[in-house]
Amino acid sequence: MNIYTSRPAVLCLSGHDPVGGAGIQADIEALIAQNCHATPVITALTIQDTVDVSDFKILDHAWVMAQAQAILDDMPVSAIKLGMLGSLEMVDTVVEIIQKLPDTPFVCDPVLRAGGGGALGKDEVGYALRSKLMPLATIVTPNLPEARILAELPNGTADECAAVLLQHCEHLLITGGHGDEQEVHNRLYCADGSTHTFKCARLPGEYHGSGCTLASTLAGRLAIGQELVSAVEFALNYTWRTLRDAEAPGRGQYIPRRLPLDFCRS
Ligand code: PLP
Repeated sequence: MNIYTSRPAVLCLSGHDPVGGAGIQADIEALIAQNCHATPVITALTIQDTVDVSDFKILDHAWVMAQAQAILDDMPVSAIKLGMLGSLEMVDTVVEIIQKLPDTPFVCDPVLRAGGGGALGKDEVGYALRSKLMPLATIVTPNLPEARILAELPNGTADECAAVLLQHCEHLLITGGHGDEQEVHNRLYCADGSTHTFKCARLPGEYHGSGCTLASTLAGRLAIGQELVSAVEFALNYTWRTLRDAEAPGRGQYIPRRLPLDFCRS
């Protein structure tokens, strides 16, 4: 066996969540579980707990570019996962980074709100993401509230939002955790007109970091070469299991259990 064989590296551009449920920590854990190596570039620091977010600070252009460049100068990147942006300037910074990685699978999670509902960026950040980053993405993964903001359809159905958003991207996965159906309907829309609905049992809890877990898992599956539709199905199933097995370390939402309980046993 070649001990120097490396796992595929996934460039994660995300915010830091100090309670470790969402953001960069979610990306790292979910990518380890896909046998990928996370290379985390921090876009923002947040102050939050499992209940809600109270503040955030966006890193400046030079610091984010320098973090990304350090990775790009050092190792090949097999996929990109984008999470919290926080500002209009960060949208442009990320465009600059993505343009350095043409033909690399790119999963765009349009993060605008924390699990508790607090804002992680103004809606204008979402509109800039829609026009500048969605066209570069392999797939965009909003939940229904995020899809409604991006489509500017406050009461739109997933199908109505998708009709608007598919004008800006090639593949769109609208997750249904916030929907009102008895089962969760996760809907994949493709620019070629095909659609796929993946249903799963609705779990009783509220979770902190489910969207990050899904998007980074999907980036990991694409990094290892899985085809898009089966990668989406795999990532949804994995994420559902992390929610079923979630932990309740704090006073608020549950945190997905992304690594097996016996991870450290020799
Ligand atoms: N990124 C960061 C840094 C966050 O703090 C959060 C939520 O708190 C998110 C992303 C989005 O979380 P979720 O995966 O629950 O949508």
